[in-house]
Amino acid sequence: MKYIVGNWKMNLSVRESVALVRGVLRSIQGCEQLPHIVLCPSATALSEAHKLLTRTHIALGAQNAGPDRAGAMTGEIGIAQLEDVGCKYAILGHSERRLKFAESDELVRERLSAVLASDLTPILCVGEPAEVRAAGKEEAYILKQLKLALAGQKIPKGKTLIVAYEPVWAIGSGSPAAPAQAMAMHHVIREYLKSEFKLSGERVAVLYGGSVDGKNAYQFLREPEIDGLLVGGASLKIEAFGQILDSACEVMQAQLSV
Ligand code: PEP
Repeated sequence: MKYIVGNWKMNLSVRESVALVRGVLRSIQGCEQLPHIVLCPSATALSEAHKLLTRTHIALGAQNAGPDRAGAMTGEIGIAQLEDVGCKYAILGHSERRLKFAESDELVRERLSAVLASDLTPILCVGEPAEVRAAGKEEAYILKQLKLALAGQKIPKGKTLIVAYEPVWAIGSGSPAAPAQAMAMHHVIREYLKSEFKLSGERVAVLYGGSVDGKNAYQFLREPEIDGLLVGGASLKIEAFGQILDSACEVMQAQLSV
């Protein structure tokens, strides 16, 4: 099963978000093999999006969460509030949070811990900056991010941990990683989660994110090592996002007939 996650970031009014949700619902009509589809609008649009997504095959996700269920944390959105508006997933540790808002590995760990204790499924983002890759140290960097986020955590039975590998240099740059680069890192991530947390099969999913669009999505999705995509810019354009969803449906249909 593939995952397609749309991260709308700090974009769209409530009215525009509702129109885009409707567009995505229309674009999956007729697709027999649907991937897990998760839409992550801005917090301001979660409630309205939830009304449209109830009893559909599309789940709602938040762009950040916690680090607690509720409490005195000005500007944050508690896990209980996210559950209340129908969220089922939460993106954590996005590089924009880490870099622009100085979210530390420790804060990402706390957010993850709160999400793991809730009904939400975490989508933990990791990714190396360009200079780290240029120095050939990307594997060590990603393993360190994973290790710090997961330190002392127990992944409850029945919970899936989703990790999104999003190289910082590929996000919003128009220059995605090569599928081979993504696959190599996905292998490293998967092996780590298997050896340290005994996570395998349905309990773990490793997604790729970074300048995915309607034209290149298929190249990533056809690789068994790539469980899906986290999409930023292209998830705001219904034509491009529709193509990405079509690619996922096509790959899944082909896998069924093997
Ligand atoms: C992202 O920010 O998670 C992302 C993948 O962005 P983009 O698709 O625009 O590169």
